[in-house]
Amino acid sequence: MTEQKRLRVALQKSGKLSEGSLDLLNKCSFKLRPAKNHYLIQSKEMNTDFLMIRDDDIPGFVDSNASDIGIVGENGYIEYILENPEHDLEIMAKLKFAACRLSIAAAHDSEIKTVVDLAGKTIATSYPETLRDFLNKHQVKARILVMHGSVELAPKIAIADAICDLVSTGTTLKENGLVELEVILESEAVLIGRRSASNEIRQRTEELIYRLQSVIDAKDSKYIMLHIDKDNVSKLKEILPGCESPTVLHLHGSDNKVAVHVVSKEGVFWDTIAKLRSIGASSILVLPIEKMME
Ligand code: AMP
Repeated sequence: MTEQKRLRVALQKSGKLSEGSLDLLNKCSFKLRPAKNHYLIQSKEMNTDFLMIRDDDIPGFVDSNASDIGIVGENGYIEYILENPEHDLEIMAKLKFAACRLSIAAAHDSEIKTVVDLAGKTIATSYPETLRDFLNKHQVKARILVMHGSVELAPKIAIADAICDLVSTGTTLKENGLVELEVILESEAVLIGRRSASNEIRQRTEELIYRLQSVIDAKDSKYIMLHIDKDNVSKLKEILPGCESPTVLHLHGSDNKVAVHVVSKEGVFWDTIAKLRSIGASSILVLPIEKMME
């Protein structure tokens, strides 16, 4: 029997994406505990090698076949493909973590209030290609200053009039007296591969995506069990998203009450519980779901 080829997966070594990537993979039975100077983790699970590298290097690693697939921020992927129009990359799955946006921001007391006001100004960014593409589409001519960190400080030290940077909670902008003017790109973690990948690599990747997807789908889903009057079962649909066909069970010794089991695909919060109680639900149990397989 021929030995199965090892699947090479590039991951960010440290930073905003690495924690989410490791968390997701470990929930899929990989036991990844990268040490500081560990650049290669060989896993028995699915015969996989993990290459721990800088996130900026991931698209190039995959494109040049140094890795089969990689987990990267969509913003980094877009920047790479704009810079390398001959690339062979594609997004194979969106992974629903590390959500952020690439935005243009300026000081709150700046004369720059809209995209048009950027004409003739200097914008600091780590994403020059994405910014250039945006400015071209809006026919605005501005100077781009490339910085690889601390972009938010550029207006304060008067080396740029505005910035184009990733925003998540908005705290960094606020702390530096900056106001968001325009969102250029919405981003999240994505799994990328090569369009020209062999059938074997494609199949191995799809097996991995199936595992990742089952964990992603389960993340916000809850298994809910409760008791309720028979007549109020139909009202549950208005309160619990995804409650189209609940399991309804007879309760021993009760003619009007039934037990209902249902999977809710959206978060169940305290106001959901309050609404359930308002239609007479009792003995409510909300359980986490580990994996959801179609
Ligand atoms: P925040 O203060 O939460 O808006 O985060 C903004 C800072 O975190 C900026 O320095 C961004 O460059 C960085 N950042 C936010 N989200 C991400 C992300 N998903 N990937 C990489 N860097 C990010």
